[in-house]
Amino acid sequence: MNLEEIYQEAHALLDGHFLLASGNHSARYLQSAKVLEYPKKAALLTDALAKMIRQSGIEVDTVCAPALGGVLAGYELARSLDVRSIFVEKKEGGMELRRGFKIQKGEKVIVCEDIITTGGSALKAAKAIEALGGEVVAFASLANRGFCKRVGSSHDAKPECALPENIPLFALDDFAFEMYAPEACPLCQEGSTKAIKPGSKS
Ligand code: ZN
Repeated sequence: MNLEEIYQEAHALLDGHFLLASGNHSARYLQSAKVLEYPKKAALLTDALAKMIRQSGIEVDTVCAPALGGVLAGYELARSLDVRSIFVEKKEGGMELRRGFKIQKGEKVIVCEDIITTGGSALKAAKAIEALGGEVVAFASLANRGFCKRVGSSHDAKPECALPENIPLFALDDFAFEMYAPEACPLCQEGSTKAIKPGSKS
């Protein structure tokens, strides 16, 4: 599976001049919701992810996603794994289960995102699950931005990665784009474009 090609075909992999949430600039950006626009394509991705998870031998009862970004990927992964799907939502300083969703003591949960950047939201979701007695057995994501180490990758985790080292991260591929401090950005130096802020609000 050529993940880059799939993201490109879905117009989920953007080329341009972007201002990232970290304040850095980049020439590429993953608008990861775009790759989930077509459910049948989304299912191909989560089927591949589910296969990796099954091959690892990890047992899973439930997939839990941090809302909003992770919900579709989490739901499709739960379908691929034939397990339950729930999601947590933001609250002050963390995440919480709402809407009558429950977690049993010892329930084995995978935290699923559409994309893992530093893993901050996934970690908050994991803490909410553990606080309710659930066991986080893995993290899963369609794409990994390359800060965290995924199972099977030769890229090591960077200091920015928030995910615990003792829980595996399954992702289909790494998208480790170059990032530049604004003063060292070659696109800024070239001068014909200004960095624009992509993301969930545009
Ligand atoms: Zn720039």
